[in-house]
Amino acid sequence: MSQELSNLTAVITGGASGIGAAIATKLQAMGANIAVLDLNPENLPEGQLGFKCNVSDDASVKAAIDGTVAAFGGVDIVVNNAGIGAIGTVEDNDDAEWARVWDINVVGMVRVSRAAMPHLRKSTAAAIVNTCSIAATAGLPARALYSATKGAVLSLTQAMAADHLREGIRVNCVNPGTADTPWIGRLMDQADDPVAERAALNARQPHGRLVSADEVAGAVAYLASPLSGSTTGTSIAVDGGMQALRLRPA
Ligand code: NAD
Repeated sequence: MSQELSNLTAVITGGASGIGAAIATKLQAMGANIAVLDLNPENLPEGQLGFKCNVSDDASVKAAIDGTVAAFGGVDIVVNNAGIGAIGTVEDNDDAEWARVWDINVVGMVRVSRAAMPHLRKSTAAAIVNTCSIAATAGLPARALYSATKGAVLSLTQAMAADHLREGIRVNCVNPGTADTPWIGRLMDQADDPVAERAALNARQPHGRLVSADEVAGAVAYLASPLSGSTTGTSIAVDGGMQALRLRPA
């Protein structure tokens, strides 16, 4: 996939950590200009342009997209990756928490896509890739709110693909299983015995280990590049076979 993206500009939300950082590194290696939109865009690898941006704040999203266009001349690829977790059943999260997480995980993707759309229309290689999750369809216990947001991301991906097909803008998503990122690291650290918890988590994966952020980035790179020029409205599972085996990451 080397240099498949030269002369193209990619915007990656949540690109300063975990899966997003791996995506930014991968797309940069393929030749793209990289704009990272993140709450904490400090300490990015050399050559990546960071924007302090909260996907919940429309003004900061617009400013970051405008800044990207000013720096690189356009936007060809949007990777809507920023997202947060939420633990609990419907009884555990109140309306305010539902609104907060929904606003980041779902409406955040809408805001960034909306701001980028006029620029994507001018591109000859326009692609949006959304980071969804196996949670969209797995029926995860104690993840009602998080799962609902990712189910919405899946539907949004399909609806946007239909809306923008004739404009040459492809829209797809990736569905990672449990991936080895700082997010999962933070969850492990809360356990009484983080080492044992990590070993148990690895053992619960069908292929005996967590998914790597780089493996997710590989799928995003394919969907973001002209290599997938006839692919839109679909998702790629990067989950070690979890969906195929009808398992869930309980
Ligand atoms: P992470 O916590 O390591 O990184 C998330 C990044 O998003 C951080 O840099 C953070 O600053 C940024 N961010 C958070 N809220 C933001 C906001 N409002 N505006 C802008 N930036 C914001 O997480 P990760 O594990 O890399 O997860 C990235 C995406 O992958 C999320 O959408 C998550 O739902 C999805 N995902 C993760 C896993 C997993 O197991 N790690 C599995 C499936 C899907």
